[in-house]
This record gives sequence, C-alpha cells and structure tokens, in this order.
Amino acid sequence: MIPVSCGEIADVVHGQLAGVDPSAVVDGPVVIDSRAAEPGGLFVALPGERVDGHDFVGTATWAGVTVSLTARPIEGSPCIVVDDPQRALGDLARFVVDRLPDLTVIALTGSSGKTSTKDLIAQLIRPYGETVSPEGSFNNEIGHPLTALQASATTKYLIAEMGARHQGDITYLTGITPPTIGLVVNVGTSHIGEFGTQDNIAVAKGELIEAVTAGGTAILNADDHRVAGMRSRTQEKVLTFGESPEADVRAADVKLDAEGRPAFMLHLGGFSGNVQLQFIGEHYVSNALAAAAVASAVGLTPEQIADGLNAATRVSAARMELTERADGVTIINDAFNANPDSTRAALKSLVAIGRSRGARTWAVLGEMLELGDASADEHDAIGRLVVRLDVNRLVVVGAGAKPIHLGASLEGSWGNESTYVDTIPDALELLRSELRAGDVVLVKSSKGSKLRSLADALLEDV
Ligand code: ATP
Ligand code: MG
Repeated sequence: MIPVSCGEIADVVHGQLAGVDPSAVVDGPVVIDSRAAEPGGLFVALPGERVDGHDFVGTATWAGVTVSLTARPIEGSPCIVVDDPQRALGDLARFVVDRLPDLTVIALTGSSGKTSTKDLIAQLIRPYGETVSPEGSFNNEIGHPLTALQASATTKYLIAEMGARHQGDITYLTGITPPTIGLVVNVGTSHIGEFGTQDNIAVAKGELIEAVTAGGTAILNADDHRVAGMRSRTQEKVLTFGESPEADVRAADVKLDAEGRPAFMLHLGGFSGNVQLQFIGEHYVSNALAAAAVASAVGLTPEQIADGLNAATRVSAARMELTERADGVTIINDAFNANPDSTRAALKSLVAIGRSRGARTWAVLGEMLELGDASADEHDAIGRLVVRLDVNRLVVVGAGAKPIHLGASLEGSWGNESTYVDTIPDALELLRSELRAGDVVLVKSSKGSKLRSLADALLEDV
C-alpha cells in the first residue's frame, strides 16, 4: 500500500484514534487475518462466522502492524475506532485508489467465468505493465478492497472481479474503484434465487457499465442479448466481443481438439490470426475474446493479444481441469462451482471430448445451489440435456440434485444409465467399481455441494 498516516486514515474512515500517534504511517499490507499481519501494516477486525477479528487485534499488534481498524478500542493496541470496519476498509481503498491517477482499473462481472477471464486478462497485460489482480475469487465487499489496496505508485493495471447477490452490490464495488474499463462477460442464472429473474440479474450486472468513467471503455458480449443491451447504459466507447458477425473482437471457425481445447481464428480490427487455447471447453472462447477486448482497449496490438492467448495457461484450480490417470481414466474436475449455464457448457465439452476419442463419458453431478423456486426445473432440464447430448452414464449425488436423475429418467428411454446416490462415499464406491480405461468423467456441482472432494478422491485413487 502507498504510505498513509494514521491521522489521514482516521479522517477518511471517520474514525477515532485510540492509543495511536496520528503521524504514524501505514506502509505495509492491509490484512483481515492476523496470521498475515506484517510490520507497518494495518489489520481490519471483521466479525467472522466462527471468530471475531477483535479477538486477534493483540496478535496483529504483536506482529508489528501500525494500527488496527476496529469497532471498539482494544486495550494495549493502537486502533482507529469506527462504526463499521468493513465499510471503513472500502473507504480506505477508495482513498488510496484516488491517489493513483495513472492507474487503469479494469472491472469485470458476469454469471460464469469471471475468475477464468480475470486470470486470462492478467496473463495478457502483465508483460506490459505492473498488474494487481485478485487472488482466486476475491470479488466481494471484503476481497475487492483488499485487492485494491495492493496497488502502489508503480502499479499500472488493477483488475477487479465483481460479484453480485443483490441490486446495488456492484455499485458499491465500483464506488471503491471506478472502472476505466468495464466488462460484462455474460448474464446467466446464478443466484437467480435472490434476483427472481434473469432480467433482474442483467439490471444488477449493468451497474458496472453505468460506472465506467469518462473516456473509458465498456466491453460487452455481442452473443448475449442481455449484455449487448447494456450499450444504452453508457455514453462511453463500447467494444463488443463474440462469434456474432457484428462483434468488434470476433472468433470464427471454432474447433475443439481431442483434449477439448478450442482453436479459432481471431478477428480484431483488420487483423486475423490463429489462436489455440490451452483451456478445456468451448466456453473459454468467449472468455478469451473478452480478455482480448480488454487488452485491445488498454492498447495491446492484435499480434500481442494473439500471442498472449496462445501462451495463456489455467491458473485457478478445479475449473475444467483435465487429468489423465495412470489407469487410463480421464477426470475433468469442474467442481469449483456450478450453475445451469456452466453445467451446460461443461456437459457439451465432455461430449465433444468423448466423441473425438471414441470414449465412454460419465457425468457426475451434484446440486446447483441458490436457484430458489427455479431449482427443481433447472435440475430437471440438466438431466434431460444429459440424455439429449448422449452422455453414456450419469451419476447424481445428493438429495438436492435428485431432479437431474428424474429428468434424465423421464427423457427418452433411459434406465440403468442414470444412478442416484445419497452421498459422496456412495458415488465413489460406484465409480471405483465401474470405471475402466478410456472413460472420461466430468465431476461438477456448486461449491456447497462439495463434489470437489469426490474429484480429489478420484484423482488420488491411481
Ligand atoms: P464465482 O461466481 O464462483 O466466482 P466465476 O464467475 O468467477 O465464479 P469461474 O470461477 O471462472 O467463474 O468458473 C466457474 C465455472 O464456470 C467453472 O465450472 C467454469 O468452467 C465455468 N465457466 C467458465 N467460463 C464460462 C462461460 N463463459 N460460460 C459458462 N461457464 C463458464
Ligand atoms: Mg470467481
């Protein structure tokens, strides 16, 4: 973080100094975990699900932080006392970002693929300027300001992943880091239980486009009509990406190889060049085009962009992570998270890989969470899609996912091909006894349904 005095911080966050010299300077990292506290840094005491950060202020002081942001004075520790430390964290991040006028803020949101796209953007632009990009999925009112506070005077690009569960969430996040470049990847159905309709989701995600600063660029998905329609929500320059002929950054002739990796012709301005991605699944074409549009908006040449896409590798785990076991069984671990869109995309990739190898395909699916009233129908539709795509075997895990099994059983004449099991150990037992060399197995569920542990167990087996 750039050096800021405690007096300035207290002003910015409307806090009271308690046992602090106002001229003491914070120039180390801002942390919410006392185990990561460092000399010169700042510790923010947040109430957690199991623990209260205020219990660790002493530890942070001992580790050498200059000051802690707290909701009450803590005996023996220098504190800045505020009503709401989380909001104070956001206010401090905004203050620091405002002091970095040369910083280009790239903000992105979408229902699926934010982290994958964020990782791609970082790989494309990092060679051309110091880049701060969030770890993993740091995309909420805590992770986002913590990421922004990592920016310093030498940082050229700040990438910000922004998630939304409610209307106004993104406006809060863009208020911390007003975006020079705003990207909406897609509008799907994740969190539809909260939002009610997909149009409401589009309203929420479009807040990011409204926040694009004067002279900035809005980047929109030409293949997603709800995203393309956000054009009316900004006066700034708009760049579009997609496979649609009118897209400014366009992919044509998309093909998947036997590993499921897409190749395509990239068209950008007058440039056309071949791209071979190292990612699995056709949906990564859209993410790659989105990242290419961002890179173009910050001034990379089309050649630099094509080279960067060809060289980019997967950074975050459990997203279409393909591993060939020693016994010839291939596991596609996509169990980081799931919603109906990413599940459809993963199933299509599974089938494409199976077809190109002449392999037997398995879909092992758990519940997709946070779908509210739409849950039963969405799971049923996935079951029917599994049959229509001609996946060879389906294993449905856990009571919440059962409508997938029912949907599959009702569609066509599926019988033994679909199996419902109650628990992850049951699924593991079934798979251990039936998998054979050559099989390709997709494992996918929402984070909370925990099929990631099943994927891990299958990978440890051989
Ligand atoms: P979260 O909201 O959990 O942070 P995210 O939007 O950051 O998710 P990723 O972590 O990149 O998304 O990917 C989550 C899942 O969505 C993975 O299974 C991934 O394979 C899939 N996915 C990635 N890109 C797309 C896309 N463009 N369309 C559909 N699914 C996608
Ligand atoms: Mg994410």
